[in-house]
Amino acid sequence: MSSFDVVVIGSGPGGYVAAIRCAQLGFKTAIIEKYATLGGTCLNVGCIPSKALLASSHHFEELQHFADHGIEVSGEVKVNLEKMIARKQAVVDQTSGGVKFLMDKNNITVYNGLGSFDDATHIKVFKTDGTSEIIETKNTIIATGSKPANLPFITLDKERIITSTEALKLPEVPKHLVIIGGGVIGIELGQVYLRLGAQVSVVEYLDRIIPGMDSSLSKELTKVLKKQGMKFYVSHKVKSVSRKDNVVSVEAENSKGETIKLEGDYALVSVGRKPFTAGLEPEKAGVKVTDRGMIDVNDHLQTNISNIYAIGDVVRGAMLAHKAEEEGVMVAEILAGQKPHIDYNLIPGVVYTWPEVAAVGKTEEQLVAAGIAFKSGSFPFKALGRARAGGDTDGFVKILADIKTDEVLGIHMIGARCADLIAEAVTAMEFRASAEDISRMSHAHPTFAEAIKEAALAATDNRAIHI
Ligand SMILES: Cc1cc2nc3c(=O)[nH]c(=O)nc-3n(C[C@H](O)[C@H](O)[C@H](O)COP(=O)(O)OP(=O)(O)OC[C@H]3O[C@@H](n4cnc5c(N)ncnc54)[C@H](O)[C@@H]3O)c2cc1C
Repeated sequence: MSSFDVVVIGSGPGGYVAAIRCAQLGFKTAIIEKYATLGGTCLNVGCIPSKALLASSHHFEELQHFADHGIEVSGEVKVNLEKMIARKQAVVDQTSGGVKFLMDKNNITVYNGLGSFDDATHIKVFKTDGTSEIIETKNTIIATGSKPANLPFITLDKERIITSTEALKLPEVPKHLVIIGGGVIGIELGQVYLRLGAQVSVVEYLDRIIPGMDSSLSKELTKVLKKQGMKFYVSHKVKSVSRKDNVVSVEAENSKGETIKLEGDYALVSVGRKPFTAGLEPEKAGVKVTDRGMIDVNDHLQTNISNIYAIGDVVRGAMLAHKAEEEGVMVAEILAGQKPHIDYNLIPGVVYTWPEVAAVGKTEEQLVAAGIAFKSGSFPFKALGRARAGGDTDGFVKILADIKTDEVLGIHMIGARCADLIAEAVTAMEFRASAEDISRMSHAHPTFAEAIKEAALAATDNRAIHI
């Protein structure tokens, strides 16, 4: 029987990063993955393919504005969706192949198959070739991720009533795509098809889209997306979804009890994701699962069974790839006797629409609810030379700082390149910078990052220069 120091179940960003860090720390490590390719949701049907389609559709959209820059494109410009999706798949295949390379480089044994607990130190692998094998392990890291959630009354036919997985490989550009759920995934995929020519309607139960983020970001993103043609039905509760031939009908009720009916050719159900443990049989190892289907862990990501840990989407917290990665590293280092720490308040959140939306730390709503006195400084991109030069003037940066100490408590931004700009905010907050600290750092001119400095100046006695 093969025997390991650590077996990781699931090869998403949590699992494969945990395996690499375990191998770096000298553990004999194996990873089990039930899908044919490595990389989990993120690489195969999540972060990477969605960003590939966002990039392709963004190029197409930018083409419509070339004339503003004095570039005349003659002839018809068309979208070849099949080719666009094939390119996306090539990006996915290359990235997933890169994970296989990293496994080999780090001498990690890869098992292709379903991992299922036999007991707390033995895992049965039901291999894709039809055979099975029991392997022995001192420690296990559960990294089995998540899958799309659904509403109980919706039947997903995965053809016209679909999840994000199918939305990443549609055979045609929808005429009218109805999106149920205005969270990050729905809005990103909505913008892809909006740019490619679809009519896109978003039905959201809460009173705003991207509801977890600061409300000022929701407001600005709604404004920009409306300008681009997306339609919103917020504070609408979906009551039924049905399909007749190629027509999908979505009925929703607003807060006054009035019903609207939207008819489209596709409905994307993006109402969140739920932890995935099917086939894992954690109960055979005695591992506790919460009533919401998550693996229950303590602050050290340890389950109630001392040699079994769990990370990523299958445990509490934000369902984000970089959160899963940090947790993978943390467990490996705990197993090596180190004392790592994750500050969950400083895990950034990003929406990869254009303009991009990004945030770290507390929102205004959270500070108000916690009774923390704060000051706020904002700076609009339209006042930046670089934004005007590039023609990307939507959005702003907002910095929230403690009213007494000036410590930065939250940074919220929407605009061009915010997905990358947020790294400065995370760095500043990791080092517990004050707004004045940021305001006194030189920022290259002309850059989008100057908006961060200006917002910090605005938060420090209203000293913004360029407004
Ligand atoms: C459309 C979309 C876009 C997204 N975009 C972003 C983004 O831009 N940024 C971001 O941070 N996050 C994004 N996410 C979320 C991100 O994909 C997840 O947070 C991340 O993949 C979680 O990583 P994980 O390692 O916990 O699990 P997963 O990536 O879900 O991986 C789990 C793996 O475990 C395998 N597995 C499960 N059970 C078993 C078993 N019993 N035996 C063997 N293998 C098993 C699964 O097959 C899977 O490969 C997106 C998600 C979606 C759907």
